[in-house]
Amino acid sequence: MPLISNILAQMITAQKASPLAAPEISLLAASKSQSALLIEEAIAGGVRVFGENRVQEAQDKWPSLRLAHPEVELHLIGPLQTNKVKQALELFDVIQTVDRPKLAEEVASLLSSVSSKKNAGDWKLATKSFYIQVNTGKEPQKAGVLPDEADAFIDYCVKELALPVVGLMCVPPADQPPAPHFALLSQIAQRHGLEKLSMGMSEDFETAIRMGSTCVRLGRALFGERA
Ligand SMILES: *Cc1c(COP(=O)(O)O)cnc(C)c1O
Repeated sequence: MPLISNILAQMITAQKASPLAAPEISLLAASKSQSALLIEEAIAGGVRVFGENRVQEAQDKWPSLRLAHPEVELHLIGPLQTNKVKQALELFDVIQTVDRPKLAEEVASLLSSVSSKKNAGDWKLATKSFYIQVNTGKEPQKAGVLPDEADAFIDYCVKELALPVVGLMCVPPADQPPAPHFALLSQIAQRHGLEKLSMGMSEDFETAIRMGSTCVRLGRALFGERA
């Protein structure tokens, strides 16, 4: 595993280089397809925030890691199916991929069943906050609300469903310069007073930091190429 201190140094250099950079930026390790052993290594190296793409994979890997490392924060950064919402709410501290009304409604309905203690049954809510994913590149195969629909969707989640939305997340098209996508995400967040911006991956995290990212999601930069 490349030295985490090297990546942190690159992050700090990018942060110092820009007046738009956020005062606090978290390094999220995108640990899809990585073994529990490698995750343990990253934790030993100082990583405190992890992101998984699939509920099932996280369910298999994380319960024992969570017990051993209660200080670690786990985020969902991949698409969420409506029938997996309850499992996701039990497992992840943060869900970054709310992107459509049906999903937001299912989340809100389960949250209210917990707070009213009605039909809560025996499950325990872990999720404290949510991001809305925006498909800034309008790519048909990609998750995320379309930019033109983002304002209305954010209002719906925050004002009507009262979801604790803290920020926005995006995965720009692989074949385009990322900066305009980061700028667009940041503008939408500012209009809604949302403070968190989850943007930037291994190839472009320094650009994302210079443009105000508060959470960079690093896979290959930390773990090397995925098998
Ligand atoms: C895999 C993944 C990452 C990390 O990608 P790298 O290019 O390996 O850094 C970040 N965000 C999401 C949503 C991912 O699926």
